[in-house]
Amino acid sequence: MNMEVLFLGTGASIPSRHRSPACVVVRSGRDMVMLDCGEGSQRQMMLSPWSFMRIKAILITHLHGDHVFGLPGLLQTMGLSGRTDPLILRGPAGFTHAVETMMDLFQGVRSYDLDIADVGDGETFAVGELGAECFATVHGVPSVGYALRAADRPGRFDPDAAAALGLEPVDFRRLQQGERVRGIDPAEVIGEPRPGMKVVYTGDTRPCGSLEEAARGADLLIHEATYSDAEAGLAEKYGHATAGQAAAAAAAAGCGHLALIHVSSRYDDGREAFLAEAQAVFPRTVMPDDLQLYRLGRDGFRPV
Ligand SMILES: [Zn+2]
Ligand SMILES: [Zn+2]
Repeated sequence: MNMEVLFLGTGASIPSRHRSPACVVVRSGRDMVMLDCGEGSQRQMMLSPWSFMRIKAILITHLHGDHVFGLPGLLQTMGLSGRTDPLILRGPAGFTHAVETMMDLFQGVRSYDLDIADVGDGETFAVGELGAECFATVHGVPSVGYALRAADRPGRFDPDAAAALGLEPVDFRRLQQGERVRGIDPAEVIGEPRPGMKVVYTGDTRPCGSLEEAARGADLLIHEATYSDAEAGLAEKYGHATAGQAAAAAAAAGCGHLALIHVSSRYDDGREAFLAEAQAVFPRTVMPDDLQLYRLGRDGFRPV
């Protein structure tokens, strides 16, 4: 099954005329997950084709303002809009305390339950049919990244092979449901299970081994790229990555595609050169704009 990725905020640190702060929404079937929630994320989502009422989980990478300032407003609007479905909230150490303090402070309207927890390296949880796994990142404050994986799908049914074995179309459904029919085992006419798509989101981080490990074999790596390679010293100093470092991680981990976000506004006027630095290392790199919707399938990763 395809996954869809909506880039609501692709900028770094401060909102700019061209980019909102960090916020990406991933959808797989009925499961919609928001990754980080920078200032203005709810309004960005109102400008998109998707409703924030369908979000099942909001996963925060760390508590820097450009990743969480949108959260109190969004939680309140969900309440005022009559949400009743519970909402999963996850973030690094200190997250639960921060959200509870915030809710007390603003006395937000709550018509729904929060399933809230702090998470750390290696922890797993489910969002509907999506599996989520946290991994450690390196940013100078408690921080995690998230790997999302869609459930595996059954192998492809081969009607020609089934017909050659003397099976009738009326038998096909039973075989697809795993039943043995007329002495024929389902494995004789159904291929290997097809692994679900995997999307990895880094949040802010220096290059690190845990990220590369988590990103191994991902169909899509959404990686921060705050600086160009010429500013590698600043990236190191402030716990960020360059475009080239993001691309090197995607290459080392054998990812299918790379999307660069959290790009400093200083590159608004030189984005082709910025993107080229990454593409020189990992050609299947894109640098989405705010509000762009992409589809991720076995046939590629492109804007819808
Ligand atoms: Zn940031
Ligand atoms: Zn940060």
